[in-house]
Amino acid sequence: MARVVLKNITKTFAGGSHTANTPDTSDASDTSDTPKASNTRPVLSNIDLTVNDGEFMVLVGPSGCGKSTLLRLISGLETLTNGAILVGDRTITHLPPKQRDIAMVFQSYALYPHLSVYDNLAFGLRRTRTPLTQNFTQDLTPNLAQNLILKDPEQPPHSPRRPAWLESMLVGLTRGLSPKLRYQSAAERSIAQRVYTVAKMLQIEDLLSRLPKQLSGGQKQRVALGRAMARNPQVFLMDEPLSNLDAKLRNETRAQIVGLQKKLATTTIYVTHDQTEAMTMGDRIAIMHQGRIQQVAPPLEIYRNPANRFVAAFIGSPPMNFLPVTVRANQLTHAAFSIALPTHWQSAIAPYRDGSTLLLGIRPEHISIGQCPGSFAATVTQIEALGSETFVMAQIVADQPVISQSLAAPVTSLQIRIGADQPIEPGSTLQVSFPTDKIHLFDTVTEAALELR
Ligand code: ATP
Repeated sequence: MARVVLKNITKTFAGGSHTANTPDTSDASDTSDTPKASNTRPVLSNIDLTVNDGEFMVLVGPSGCGKSTLLRLISGLETLTNGAILVGDRTITHLPPKQRDIAMVFQSYALYPHLSVYDNLAFGLRRTRTPLTQNFTQDLTPNLAQNLILKDPEQPPHSPRRPAWLESMLVGLTRGLSPKLRYQSAAERSIAQRVYTVAKMLQIEDLLSRLPKQLSGGQKQRVALGRAMARNPQVFLMDEPLSNLDAKLRNETRAQIVGLQKKLATTTIYVTHDQTEAMTMGDRIAIMHQGRIQQVAPPLEIYRNPANRFVAAFIGSPPMNFLPVTVRANQLTHAAFSIALPTHWQSAIAPYRDGSTLLLGIRPEHISIGQCPGSFAATVTQIEALGSETFVMAQIVADQPVISQSLAAPVTSLQIRIGADQPIEPGSTLQVSFPTDKIHLFDTVTEAALELR
């Protein structure tokens, strides 16, 4: 297994034309470390990212932010404009996809429709030039290997050693038969061992003789995962592999992928636009926006300490509330309320104390309800009772009109999350307040979070 290092990666699609390579035709001569002339904006800019050995890294961001392009650059399906990619101690920037030792799983499954599940799993292994180890389980972590020692009664017995020409003729003649009846050469026996091992891991042993059209979406996705796993690559790349599944199956398969990745300890880069997947699957998350990485950190750190307004708004559902406030001394003032900041904010707000505006952020679950010093009125306009919790939309009752200072954020409404049993009526007035240990402050120009020191 291996660490993946992305160094200063930039990608521009020249003239907006399609420059993708296919896995088989990509050529080292196509790649370049020198910027190519283009009149278009880079799709990816200065991407620096290290994914540690065995780590599960999630790339998350809105549609069009460049996630898939980055994954395709790592796999070799696209050529980069600038930068370098390392896997372990190998620089793979110029290598064609086949030589990168990376397996990719796509949203569309990309199974061969005319091949059985067995042959789909075996396909990549038959094409590999490097001989497979006789015992696939030796390549796996010791604990996992022990649980997967093959005792498959259906596997054909090992046949005596025959000349290579005879083996290949017998393989060719019996290829059209079901897997159980085919002649197996020594190479094919190694492949069979891997196929059965992976099928067992993914609990698809019963599906080996079916065609993809005879499988459900979830089963197809497991076969696609199995095909990647059978190759035992140094790195897995997964591009929204769960998007085609319904919500229940997505949850189940999500847990299964995380479990398998932990067992195999294969470095994995997983692309999604779904923040729940990002939060629940990743050891770390890299949040992308407009072709740039905004923050890389473990999920809860990102949730608790977003680096900027984009990250704060993107992670969390419903999203964080944002309100413009004026800073004077240690007071934050809004048309409806005023907050005295504790001393640990002093150095962070020092450059703004002359009456500058900051953006205050507060998550729906951190808004306190009830009369207290500093609380203010908000009128309930909408209630969404989900059973386990309730989301309330409330309009702030301000003494003066609230001016947004051209910030693209709601300034008069708040989303509040309350317990399911808390009684609440539309049109009622709540007293709300923002605990100072739960607020976030952002610069209105750079949108960077103010850091507490
Ligand atoms: P999604 O979540 O919708 O799949 P994404 O974050 O994966 O989006 P990409 O598919 O990487 O985004 O696309 C990033 C940008 O690059 C988009 O603006 C897209 O239109 C553009 N793009 C992607 N592939 C090409 C291409 N071959 N030629 C020109 N532009 C492209």
